[in-house]
Order: sequence, then C-alpha cells, then structure tokens
Amino acid sequence: MAQAPIYLDNQATTPLAPEVFDAMIPWLRDNFGNPHSAHILGRKASAAVEHARAQVLALLPDDGQLLFTGSATEAINTGFGILETLKFPSRNKIILLETEHAAVRDTAAAYEKKGFRVAYHPVKSDGIVSLEQLDRVIDEHTALVAAMLVNNEIGAVQPIEAIAALAHEKGALMLCDIVQGYGRVSIPDNIDIAAISAHKIYGPKAIGALWYRNGLSMPPMIHGGGQEQGLRSGTLSPALCVGFGQAAELCVHRSRKDTAHIQALYDKASHCFSNWTINGSTDHRYCGNLNIMRTDIDVARLMSEVRDVAFSAGSACASGSGRPSHVLAALGLDRAQIRSSIRLGFGRYNSEDDIERAANSINQAVEAQLG
Ligand code: PLP
Repeated sequence: MAQAPIYLDNQATTPLAPEVFDAMIPWLRDNFGNPHSAHILGRKASAAVEHARAQVLALLPDDGQLLFTGSATEAINTGFGILETLKFPSRNKIILLETEHAAVRDTAAAYEKKGFRVAYHPVKSDGIVSLEQLDRVIDEHTALVAAMLVNNEIGAVQPIEAIAALAHEKGALMLCDIVQGYGRVSIPDNIDIAAISAHKIYGPKAIGALWYRNGLSMPPMIHGGGQEQGLRSGTLSPALCVGFGQAAELCVHRSRKDTAHIQALYDKASHCFSNWTINGSTDHRYCGNLNIMRTDIDVARLMSEVRDVAFSAGSACASGSGRPSHVLAALGLDRAQIRSSIRLGFGRYNSEDDIERAANSINQAVEAQLG
C-alpha cells in the first residue's frame, strides 16, 4: 500500500484527534436519541450537547451565547444577519480587511446587493492592518467591521482588540472570524460576533459555531422547529457536538504542549526552507503557518511532482478555486510571485522528522526545476 503523504496542510483541515474519535463513538453507535425529545434518551443527548457547548464556550469571552452551526461559513452568514437589525440606511457601511476569507468577503458582497456599501480595507506588506489608516475610514455610517484573528493563508495575527475598540468608538459592531485562532491564541474580550469551526481544531467536519455577545439578536438563518435559540432550526448531531466539545477541551489541556511543539516545528521549517522568502509578518504570526516564495518556480508543477507531501499552493485559495490568492496580492506580491509561493501548515501530529523529509522532497524538486 502506498505510504500516506506527510500532511502539511493543517490550515485547510486537521486530522481528527483520537480522543475526539473515542468521545464521538457512543453517540454514533449507541445513543441515538434526538436531543430535542423530552424523554430520557432525548434528555441524555441534550445534556451531552449542553456539556459540549460549555466546553466550546470555555475558550470564548464570558458574556455571550453559542449557537452550533454546520460550518464556520454558516456561522459567518448568520452573524452578518445582524445587519438587518441595525439602523439602515444611516448605518450602511461594512468594512472588511482585504485579506478576509471568502466566507466573509462573499457574504459582505451579498449584502452589497441589498444596498450596503462594502469597503475592502488594505493591509501593509506584512499582512497587518494599519490602525491609523483604519481609524480614518470607520465612521458614524459604519455598521460592521470584519477582521479575522489569524489569517488562513499567511498566519498573520491582527490586532483585533484595537480594531474592535476603534469600531466601538464609532458605534459599529465587530465581527471576527476566529477560525484559525480559536484553541491556539487567546480570543480578545471585546469582539461582538465570532465564527469557529471544529475541523480546524482536530474535531469533526460539518460542525461550526457562532458566538455573539449577550444583548445582540439576529434574524433566523434557517426556519423550522426553532432549535438553537430559534436561529438555526434542525436537529443537532450529538456526536458532532460532543466531538467539537472534546476537541476544544483538548486544546485547553494541551495548550502549552501544542504551542511549544508548533514553535519547534516552525523553527525547524524556517531552517530547512532558509533559502525561501517568507510571505507575511514574522513578528505577528501564528507559527503553525509558513507561507514561502521561491522566485521563478512553477508551483503547479511542484505540486504535481512532490507527491509525498500534502501542502497548498499560494496561488490558489484554500478552497481550490484556482483564483490567484487575494491575500498574497494584498501584500503587494505580483502574479509571478504569487505563482511561486506555497503554504505549509504544521499541526499537533507533525514531527520534526516530517518537516525535514518534506523539505528534502520539496527542495529537491525545486532545484531540479531551477537547475
Ligand atoms: N474562515 C477561515 C479563516 C477559514 O480558514 C475557513 C476554512 O477554510 C473558514 C472561515 C470556513 O470554515 P468552514 O470550513 O467551517 O466553513
């Protein structure tokens, strides 16, 4: 049987933690009750869902509600619904960073069709926003400011607390995509709306969550039986909720260990890829990400030649859409530079040996291309 490739694409998704798998099994095999049923089986399932909710909430600010969704994308779409409750048209402006994920960009674009104005705010060449510049564009017409905590392509960590403070000064709300930061870096206390996804923290796919500050209310995204505070009707999967909760709790328990491990992998990778240029900030960066460029290489060819490493091209969005990366373009890279960039994402289950073997494979293929 062919050997599994070395997995260095932990921003796209993460493997399921064995502890998460074990926790989910009884909810797939034995405990089939509907968590919304009033009898004993339902109450048991409901208790498991509520325990999971508390586990996920433990990593989030104290004064908020958590709604389980099918993905972070769904959570972001639901969160944007807050716009329908604000004073439109006097507050009709949405500001988002140019480097936001498609889930935020495309949802904002949908609101543009409903009459909102969308301002895509630039970042500096290191991928970090200038607070002075941002302060100049947030005004009394701004309804929502959206900025992500950790960028999925370049790992840049934005000054979210300061951005939220600027938004609040002008009476705007702050939506933060914390998908790549949750469970890894601390979550600022002053955000209003946040989206997370279990499969980025060694949990199962097809479950995410929307967090929102107490006192905010948004229209339902999915109508029906009124589950999840009436905002997202449909029967929850206790197995997915339990898996999400267990994954979140593991992040808490393993926090120090994971952080030290990821730093060691980053140091090793920085050494192994020292003749590449790093895209994005090295000071304000989540170390599980290394986005690097080697001028004159053809990354599409590199990816087809290097079969033993699963990594991502910098030239295409993580979604595999094939569109040139809007994130690298926002840093000022030209098309050729974007086409010569790759993203390596390290995680809990990688070893330093993985990094060394992957680097040998990738660097050899690069030298063959250039030589
Ligand atoms: N936001 C960021 C930063 C992401 O990396 C992703 C996943 O790629 C998403 C949102 C969407 O998450 P999901 O797959 O749960 O919809």
